[in-house]
Amino acid sequence: MARHGGGRGWYGKVVGAALGVTVLAVGASVWTAQADTDGDGATPRASAPATPGGDAAPVDAGIAHASDAGPRGVNITIDDGPDPAWTPQVLDLLQQYGVKATFCMTGLQAEAHPDLVKDVVAAGHRLCDHSVSHDTAMDKKSEAYQSKEILDAERMITKASGGVRPMYYRAPGGAFTPYSRKLAASRGMRPLGWNVDTKDFERPGTDAVVATVQQELSNGPTILFHDAGGDRTQTVEALRQVLPWLGEQGYSFGFPVR
Ligand SMILES: [Zn+2]
Repeated sequence: MARHGGGRGWYGKVVGAALGVTVLAVGASVWTAQADTDGDGATPRASAPATPGGDAAPVDAGIAHASDAGPRGVNITIDDGPDPAWTPQVLDLLQQYGVKATFCMTGLQAEAHPDLVKDVVAAGHRLCDHSVSHDTAMDKKSEAYQSKEILDAERMITKASGGVRPMYYRAPGGAFTPYSRKLAASRGMRPLGWNVDTKDFERPGTDAVVATVQQELSNGPTILFHDAGGDRTQTVEALRQVLPWLGEQGYSFGFPVR
């Protein structure tokens, strides 16, 4: 039984239940119900989990764009890593400007660089499942294939992080399907879109990346950058300008809604 082998998990549930007014109001039968459902992922939570992203409770399957920081909130999202050349530079800049971001990692990159995954989590950023192998045509393939790409990446990222789960799923190239959105949502990973594609991946020049953010932010709050897949010098330099600019414009930095 999971509850005998997982002392911390059980303790977390007791603390969570103790903090939940509604759970207390139901009475002693709650404890029996929790014990019966322990370990199957169906136990209702009375409070936020102790570990960020540690809960696999289902979330909405709609593609999220909004920011939890409100109408002047922006979401910085960093895709395709982690990468030993670029992720540490991005992390340094985020720390310098006090920004929390969402890192959409492939399973293969996370498995190859678990220390970087742990660095991302330790700095307070959130994890996002970006599939195992970044197949941008996965929406044309079988449900079995899509499931393997999403769930294997979820496992690889969670293992690399030391147990912190991805809280979002972003299909590579935006290749979502109704099936993949529902599957991810059932695992607690909110499908995640974007509003501003900086096209930093194409290396159009630092100025062009910065200008795209400034000109297209009216589209919505979720901005897409990359920290892997080639020379990301322009991305790093653009972030060095964009992050303080956003602050000067009165924006605050948040996470995508779940
Ligand atoms: Zn990508």
